[in-house]
Amino acid sequence: MEVLLGKTLTELQTIAIEAGLPRFVGKQLCEWIYRHRACSFDEMTNISLKSRQALQEKYRIGRIAPTAEAVSTDGTRKYLFPIEISSQKSEVRSQQFIECVWLPEEDRTTLCVSTQAGCKMGCKFCMTGTLGFHGNLTADAILAQVLHFPDLTNLVLMGEGEPMDNVDNVLRAINVLTSEWGLGWSPKRITVSTVGILQKQPALQRFLDETDCHLAISLHNAFPAERAAIMPAERLTPVTEVLDLVRQYDWTHQRRLSFEYICWGGMNDDTAHAKQLLRLVQGLPCRVNLIRFHETNQQQSNQQRSDQPSNSAALHPTFPPSDEQRMIAFRDYLSAHGVTSTIRRSRGEDILAACGMLVNALQK
Ligand code: SAH
Ligand code: SF4
Repeated sequence: MEVLLGKTLTELQTIAIEAGLPRFVGKQLCEWIYRHRACSFDEMTNISLKSRQALQEKYRIGRIAPTAEAVSTDGTRKYLFPIEISSQKSEVRSQQFIECVWLPEEDRTTLCVSTQAGCKMGCKFCMTGTLGFHGNLTADAILAQVLHFPDLTNLVLMGEGEPMDNVDNVLRAINVLTSEWGLGWSPKRITVSTVGILQKQPALQRFLDETDCHLAISLHNAFPAERAAIMPAERLTPVTEVLDLVRQYDWTHQRRLSFEYICWGGMNDDTAHAKQLLRLVQGLPCRVNLIRFHETNQQQSNQQRSDQPSNSAALHPTFPPSDEQRMIAFRDYLSAHGVTSTIRRSRGEDILAACGMLVNALQK
């Protein structure tokens, strides 16, 4: 049965007409699904019962509810959503799970949304990467996460998955989120994070052209060979090429560009790395968010293994988190040289809800 969530106003009008209903029912559907967040046709009281029945025969709304929740000592909450993934090759739909994270702060509430089940980018330091890839979220599954939370002020597409690897669904979801007939969100309250891939041409360019949302690029190392060693995506698309594209856009007005940079002790947190970072972003209005590394069990055990005489260290690079002092020094060096830099507060680490820790552990 086809899902209505994720459809545009025009598409809903067509659906109404095709069901033999007046065109204005399309607008009413929009209002019920996006503004009133209706979960069932029964709620749509200004649409006649007969019309609702006609729609119900062919369509469902597509809202999903989380099946598990974890609460952190810092107030962060993580939710497990069951989602359907449809195979591109066949009609077969399989059930998968994804997680999203609800982050309350004094002046805002942010939702960290997933765009794929797992991820195929294989960044060596990321637990989600170790899950492998289990499918693209359709726009309705992306939107269902947002609609579940009535009190949000900000959205970050930084959960499971690489948004630019699922650009059609991500752009459709952003269109619904930011359109007047949809959720009416300002794009200024939405940030999309990417490792920067241009292969699925022109995913990033389309994101930059078709939306006004903020962009965050996961950098983590400004030396190409070192970045490639921990982020296979660098081999496909050098970050320098990503920046060539990004430089063609205006980052001085509404839209913000930021870089995410996990700090590892002795690996990427010295002055040489800070200087290289400054060279890379020279002339680009941007800021750098320093992220404390969230150690995972698997990485901890790799670290232990590499203490023993074996070559497992080469196969699994180990990641020593930077200490606070070095992060502060790195931040201050960047800021003193004109690139505003902040240390991002980690949230929800105790429930595996912090960056890179989403592995659907709630499923077990
Ligand atoms: N795939 C996208 C968005 C999801 S990952 C991307 O990579 O940008 C969100 C952020 O978490 C990225 O900046 C990623 O590099 C970071 N991250 C991944 N694993 C992490 C870990 N173990 N500790 C801290 N940050 C991590
Ligand atoms: Fe995927 Fe982002 Fe994790 Fe890399 S850091 S594996 S791109 S989710």
